[in-house]
Amino acid sequence: MARGSIGLGKLVGIPIRVDLSWLFIVVWVTWSLASGYFPARYPEWPETLSWGMGMLSSALFFGSVLLHEMGHSLVARAQRLPVTDITLFIFGGASQIAEEPRNAREELLLAGAGPATSLGLAAAFGLTHLAVRSLSEPLGAVALFLAGINLSLGLFNLIPGYPLDGGRVLRAILWGARRDVRWATRWASRTGRAVAGLFVLFGIYQASTGDWVSGLWVLFIGFFLDGASRSSYQQLTLRQLLEGHVAAEIMAEDCQVIPPQLSVDTFVEHYLVGEGVRRCYVVGTRDELVGLLTPGDLQKVPRDRWMTTRVREVAMPVERLGVVAPDTPLWTALLQLTAEGVNQMPVLDRGQLVGMISRDRLLSLIRRLSELDP
Ligand SMILES: [Zn+2]
Repeated sequence: MARGSIGLGKLVGIPIRVDLSWLFIVVWVTWSLASGYFPARYPEWPETLSWGMGMLSSALFFGSVLLHEMGHSLVARAQRLPVTDITLFIFGGASQIAEEPRNAREELLLAGAGPATSLGLAAAFGLTHLAVRSLSEPLGAVALFLAGINLSLGLFNLIPGYPLDGGRVLRAILWGARRDVRWATRWASRTGRAVAGLFVLFGIYQASTGDWVSGLWVLFIGFFLDGASRSSYQQLTLRQLLEGHVAAEIMAEDCQVIPPQLSVDTFVEHYLVGEGVRRCYVVGTRDELVGLLTPGDLQKVPRDRWMTTRVREVAMPVERLGVVAPDTPLWTALLQLTAEGVNQMPVLDRGQLVGMISRDRLLSLIRRLSELDP
């Protein structure tokens, strides 16, 4: 789904993907453990041991982040919310859950599951450390590092800044208290931006005391949180606005069906010039769609080749467009349009073309809905 990520297969039926930025994290964690953290604490270790334990810790850290996300995903699945995939990226992970929780309780469980998993892992690694440190110093050291990192992971995610898990927990509590999801979202987002502002201020303070490396990191996290908080608020507002609306409401039904064998020349003469420009032209038949034709596609064909080029050769093939059904929720349709990077998408009902949805129509609906509901 996400660009620049690779699939690692499935875990209990959920596709796991890794963003390429994770390669950087794995190398960075291994390197800083092997050349800094371990040698500083255990100077008597041979270099190969430090590197070996660095790699082991890095792998277990990866597993810990994955388990944090599995925590969210398994709760989502128990609530029958569809989980598309889990992607691990530079700031940790993200579970792609295709629907929003239906009530405050679900949201609380869903958001809390990740930090709870991390804190549980911290406790488990802490106990492992106590159990193995007298048997093996290196394994004890690895367990101690993982206890610490999982504790930080759990606590960092509990910071009440939307869209961090803690922000979602806050939203769930506000939602439960006032039974108004929009109000809850607005305040969770404001809290998120305030927290981000504190990070920025603290980063500037740290940099001013001379510790500019940590300062820049904190500043960077602050800006990232602020951006994430703003965009996820906009996304939620949009999602709430579109809730209950389906593709059939905005689809253009006056699509002209063009026979695939028609030449570009005839198409322009009879359909474009002859009948006036319509909203959409589909190539194929009502039962068998070949593709979609936009005036832009025609410009790619030199004029002297109009007579010899068939419309099916210039149409955007249907396999590249993706399709929706009349009852597809508009939010899902919007995600699909964005994922496929297209402006229009055919609406099929039991294999039959019934219309076409477009970004333009979706945007004008959003405009109308937001005027009604400021
Ligand atoms: Zn989480």
